[in-house]
Amino acid sequence: MSNLQVNKKGRLKRSPTSYITSMLQLKCNHCREGDLFQNKRSYSKDFMKMNEKCPVCGHLTEIEPGFYYGTGYISYALTIAFSVSTFIAWWVLLGFSIYDKSLFYWLATNAVLLIAMQPFLMRLSRATWFSFFVRYNKHWKEESPKEFERVNKSFKNSL
Ligand SMILES: [Zn+2]
Repeated sequence: MSNLQVNKKGRLKRSPTSYITSMLQLKCNHCREGDLFQNKRSYSKDFMKMNEKCPVCGHLTEIEPGFYYGTGYISYALTIAFSVSTFIAWWVLLGFSIYDKSLFYWLATNAVLLIAMQPFLMRLSRATWFSFFVRYNKHWKEESPKEFERVNKSFKNSL
């Protein structure tokens, strides 16, 4: 899918990325262009290190102390949603029976998949949480991001 579109003057212009796409790409929701995390890869040593500010629009990524505390709820919801979808997929494709160990095979497979996806899920939870509090601003290029008062440097990235 191309995010190029023709504007009124006939010039090619990049359309804003959709909410879901920018979240899956772990972008800042204020501009949907800058990366929230320093490292693009979810499977690296410092995968949870975030940029202090969005490198594109300059919006703070941690808007108050302990801001990302609530990501636990998102991560929990994502885990449940993922498990329900693997359960349904297993049910449709392979089927469950009380006469064999299919339920346990699903449990084990699901657990392995969840562990493997954990780094990405943790990052996705933060990007989702961030998007709940920071709305997309169409005019982010002209307007500077909001200032936040409750910023405490010594508590940065503490959670
Ligand atoms: Zn941004």
